[in-house]
Amino acid sequence: MIRLYNTLTRKIEDFKPIRKGRVGLYTCGPTVYNFAHIGNLRTYIFEDILRRTLEYSGYNVTHVMNITDVGHLTSDADAGEDKLEKGAKREGKTVWDIARFYTRAFLKDIRALNIKRAQNIVPATSAIREQIAVIKKLFAGGFAYETPEAVYFDVSKFRNYTKLSRQRLEEKKAGARAEVIEDPGKKHPQDFALWFKRVGKFKNHVMHWNSPWGDGFPGWHIECSAISTSRLGQPFDIHTGGVDHIAVHHTNEIAQSEGAFKKPLARFWMHGEFLLVADSKMAKSAGTFLTLQELEKKGFNPLAFRYLVLTSHYRSKLNFTWESLRAAEHSLERVRSFIKTLLSERKKPKHPVSLEKYRSQFDDALKSDLQTPQALSVLWKIISDYNTQSESFDAKKILALLYDFDQVLGLHFTAIKKDAIPETIRDMAMKREVARRNKDWDKADKFRAKIETAGFVIFDTPDGSKLRKKQ
Ligand code: AMP
Ligand code: ZN
Repeated sequence: MIRLYNTLTRKIEDFKPIRKGRVGLYTCGPTVYNFAHIGNLRTYIFEDILRRTLEYSGYNVTHVMNITDVGHLTSDADAGEDKLEKGAKREGKTVWDIARFYTRAFLKDIRALNIKRAQNIVPATSAIREQIAVIKKLFAGGFAYETPEAVYFDVSKFRNYTKLSRQRLEEKKAGARAEVIEDPGKKHPQDFALWFKRVGKFKNHVMHWNSPWGDGFPGWHIECSAISTSRLGQPFDIHTGGVDHIAVHHTNEIAQSEGAFKKPLARFWMHGEFLLVADSKMAKSAGTFLTLQELEKKGFNPLAFRYLVLTSHYRSKLNFTWESLRAAEHSLERVRSFIKTLLSERKKPKHPVSLEKYRSQFDDALKSDLQTPQALSVLWKIISDYNTQSESFDAKKILALLYDFDQVLGLHFTAIKKDAIPETIRDMAMKREVARRNKDWDKADKFRAKIETAGFVIFDTPDGSKLRKKQ
């Protein structure tokens, strides 16, 4: 049984899918006005581990993700500039070019991190009809009202509006007041926009569509309500995102979807904690953030970042430092070299030890709310046990087990190849062997030295001498 922490109940609960054997999973996708930063990518890695754990446990997962390509505003409080228009101005491109370019960049990042792509990736601009349909339902249910500037969700009409964040409504009010949009028709400061009309400060808004409330564009939150429910049904199993989405975005998604369809939106709400830099949240809007490209430019393998993320539990904050990334890369390199050792191992013990205990520990770790640090420690236990008693292990079986683990870890273990040993080196090793047999130790040592200078090591085992590339 998989057990997962549900933000809605603040408890770790047994996971039971709504439909046998199937899981509907929704992930809030990127806002494509800039590159994703490695904090965002940490959240997508957590969501990937969740999906892979479900698949590893035999579920058929339907994964849906939106792409926020309608420029929502730089502030959650319906005020501020349009993010995409800001990006377009910065780069002298159209908003459509900006969205296309950064969507591609995002897909490239997730490929480099071996994050499985959602089967349905839905740009908000391609789901305007669905968004309008939800807003219409909200009108019909008395949850929405219109002003000359916009259409709002009336939070006073929705019972238990703050059930996810468990904030008091007054706290939200205080938060909103600082930058609240000055629409005199708005009933409560916490009310949030469902549709903006192309009037006033938005009269030149570049992206716009027709709607029953006039020409304009949707508010940010409505796209996720519309896209999730239209693709997965309502309720669906698991909704995910970063912790910053709890208080505003997910709270509003719940109000919209549950207001419109009178049933819960999702059974489980799961949130990934922040990646910090120098102890504060890495944020796009602060303008100082690290991208995967920057890590690669410094010579890091993107999978080293994936490994680093797996070393901490998704509900703990993770402070990013270059040293920790270096350490992660080093660890990953050691695992890779262990796999190479297994690939070159030929001998087969008669009575190899069973690997079942490792498999079940790995399984238990992931099924206990995705404890990736514990899952990695099982991997390290295998390495240390093998190194101390390699004669009791069947290398091929360990390899098969590690490939199996990699279905969840996603560290590309199956792509690791044996180090190729050039013919000239093999030839020298043969000559050394002949010299040894003739007890010509001087000559044998010379060949060993030559082999080592060429970057290889030769070591003698009871089954003869073996060659390996130097690490
Ligand atoms: P955005 O593109 O801003 O909508 O964010 C994409 C995802 O990254 C969302 O799930 C956010 O909650 C998450 N996120 C934003 N900042 C961070 C951070 N510093 N660490 C981890 N996740 C984050
Ligand atoms: Zn969302």
